[in-house]
Amino acid sequence: MWIDSHAHLGDLGDHDLAATLREAAEAEVGIVVSTATDCTTAYLVAQQCDRHPMLRGAVGISPFDVIDPPATWYDDLTALLVRPKIIAVGEIGIDATNPRYPPLSLQQPMFEKQLSLARSLGLPAVIHSRGAEKRAIDICRSAGITDALFHCFTGSREALAAVIDRGYYVSLSGIITFKNSGLHDSLRDIPFDRLLIETDTPYLAPVPHRGEKNRPAWVRLVGEEIARLLGKESEELQEQLEENFRRLFGKAV
Ligand SMILES: [Zn+2]
Repeated sequence: MWIDSHAHLGDLGDHDLAATLREAAEAEVGIVVSTATDCTTAYLVAQQCDRHPMLRGAVGISPFDVIDPPATWYDDLTALLVRPKIIAVGEIGIDATNPRYPPLSLQQPMFEKQLSLARSLGLPAVIHSRGAEKRAIDICRSAGITDALFHCFTGSREALAAVIDRGYYVSLSGIITFKNSGLHDSLRDIPFDRLLIETDTPYLAPVPHRGEKNRPAWVRLVGEEIARLLGKESEELQEQLEENFRRLFGKAV
């Protein structure tokens, strides 16, 4: 089976989630991690997980949503994170790519508090680190984080080496299917046992659907492209990615 380790199903808008997941199952996708970005989507993720057997959830406040979270955010997230199908704290992190995003002085403290939450609950963290990979790695290390997934990784080879050095995992999205993605060399640097894949639905649809609204079924296109680039059989890659996923997300069963 393929596993979509990161999808924002709550951002798909008005649509039939059951039909979207049926389509994913037909594309041999067995698990989809529905991922929150704030408290509202965190509750939505938990609800979706209750209704759909193939879903697992990650809940957290993203670097774009750190301004004025509800006063109860920490307790709200904690209550969701103890549910059996909520398997990680995420997505959380820092993003330094755009001055219109919340300042790093607000992003970083929220990132640190959520990392300590992950640590206290013994859960992995799903990390967004665009334009600030090295800093994110240092913050994770200082927070004593041993289990982390750097999702939709697009950082430099140096940043990738630092992620791998720390024992963390990397997830690649549909960007790997884009011409000139700059990720082909990075792909060869990722140890086979630290790799995961994702769609980041509804964003970053892979070729040949670039520009369309992404969906979990298309994680298969990401996986098949990676298998092609690595010269591996699709089944071999699926098995390794599933093993990696279950090792990192121990609660996923
Ligand atoms: Zn995301």
